[in-house]
Amino acid sequence: MKESETTISQISLMKQKLHAAKLALEDINTDRNDKLKTLIQFISHLSLACKGQNLELDNKLAKLRHHMQSFDQVDEALPELVDIERLLKSQYSHTMSRLEDSRVGLSRVIRQIQRVNAVPDKLKKEITYFKQELNKPFHTVWEYIPKVEKLVSFYEEILKQEFADTDDYDILPQHIQLAQELAVKIAEVEFRKDQRDQILVLKEVLLSDISVNTLLESYQTILSLLLDNIAREKTASQDFLFALNDALTIVRDVVNSTYNNSQRSEQLKGQLNKEINLRVSNADELVIDVDNITELKTQLTVQLTSLRDALSRKEALEQREQTILRKSIESMRKELNAMSNEANSYKEKLFEHQKLNLLDPLTQLANRAALEDRMEQEYRNHMRFKSPLWIAVTDIDHFKTVNDNFGHSTGDKTLQVIAMALKNSLRDSEFVARYGGEEFVLLLPGITDEHISLMLNRVREKIKNIPFKFKNQRITVTLSIGAAQVMENETLEEAFERADAALYQAKNNGRDRVVIDI
Ligand code: GH3
Ligand code: MG
Ligand code: MG
Repeated sequence: MKESETTISQISLMKQKLHAAKLALEDINTDRNDKLKTLIQFISHLSLACKGQNLELDNKLAKLRHHMQSFDQVDEALPELVDIERLLKSQYSHTMSRLEDSRVGLSRVIRQIQRVNAVPDKLKKEITYFKQELNKPFHTVWEYIPKVEKLVSFYEEILKQEFADTDDYDILPQHIQLAQELAVKIAEVEFRKDQRDQILVLKEVLLSDISVNTLLESYQTILSLLLDNIAREKTASQDFLFALNDALTIVRDVVNSTYNNSQRSEQLKGQLNKEINLRVSNADELVIDVDNITELKTQLTVQLTSLRDALSRKEALEQREQTILRKSIESMRKELNAMSNEANSYKEKLFEHQKLNLLDPLTQLANRAALEDRMEQEYRNHMRFKSPLWIAVTDIDHFKTVNDNFGHSTGDKTLQVIAMALKNSLRDSEFVARYGGEEFVLLLPGITDEHISLMLNRVREKIKNIPFKFKNQRITVTLSIGAAQVMENETLEEAFERADAALYQAKNNGRDRVVIDI
């Protein structure tokens, strides 16, 4: 009995354990199914991300998603997974090779872009950097798309550049030369004060990167400024001639009226004289003819009265005549004064003009015309007194770099400073002129052979030591100088040619030096 009771209790214990194990198993199943569901949902969503690359893969994935909707059909989906995995692998290698092809394609396009000339420097740098980036392989499409976008932006930029330039014709070397010549020419012409700022701007435009349209516009502007000046000049001369003509007309009228007045006065005076003579001869006759004294007295009184009368009329006439004459002289003097004032102011203008015509407007140094005058004068002295005469030609070294690096207005200021320093380094008897652009000519009388090199090197050093500072950068500007002495039987122009050749040699020998032709 005892044995059977023990057995029963063991069985009941086992039952309990089994029940508990069953419950635990159910829990595990539920948990596993939940996780599986989550995983299936995740796979469904992941499969959507692969959509659109390959039609077969899309179909298979759609089927897979369908099977996975219902939990019971998952088993049916399992065989499909093998196929899908194969398709995915082949799609991956296909994508990678497509990405590689695209990378090579982009490199080819970028090489073509690099050949476009009109690309601005900044963009060129970006393109070179981009090309280097393209050497690394792409791992995903997402690396490829930004590269394409970048490439499109390069194209856009270049097209914008091209279209901006389409209104302009191509600028050729001869256009640039024309622009430079025009800039030099307008520097030689004297413009009015109110035109000078405009001319400075024009000069700057002409000497920087110019387009054909701007060149034509510059020609037109300069032409109209010159025509305006000619018209004004003409009007000023005409005004003077008109004033002169008016004054002469007035003088002529005064002379005419004086002449007419005096003619009329002459007639009147003649009549009066006749009358007076008549009275006097009447009195004479009376004295001879009349016997009766009383009658004679009466008659004489009458004659004397008319005689006094005639004399006072004659005096009045003479006074009137004098007044008229004085007035005429007065008005003539006024006219002549006005005329002489006018002539003086015209003379002053002319003198001012002549002075300006001999000065270079930028540097205020003597210009080429003044140099020619002075050359004649120095040459005459040299021939007369047999004193030594030197001519030196100097040109600023690498001046184009100053313009290129710091702009033309800085170039202009540099020219002004150098011109002043040149002038200040000379004695009163010596002479410097701006020959053109950045070239100057010195006329140096009375300097001996031993001193010329010393003197010119001192000038050269002086310019070299000017502390120019552009954009906070200390810059040294140097000169090359060529010089020659006027020899016997030689003209100053011939000596000039030798000095110029010496300058050329100074440039060739490395610049910043003096070469004397001996
Ligand atoms: P090099 O040492 O051989 O003389 O070199 P460089 O650059 O001085 O010679 P180049 O003759 O090639 O250039 C001269 C430059 O001077 C060109 C021109 O732009 C500049 N220039 C000429 N006249 C003026 C001017 O009035 N103002 C300015 N800013 N620049 C001028
Ligand atoms: Mg030069
Ligand atoms: Mg030069």
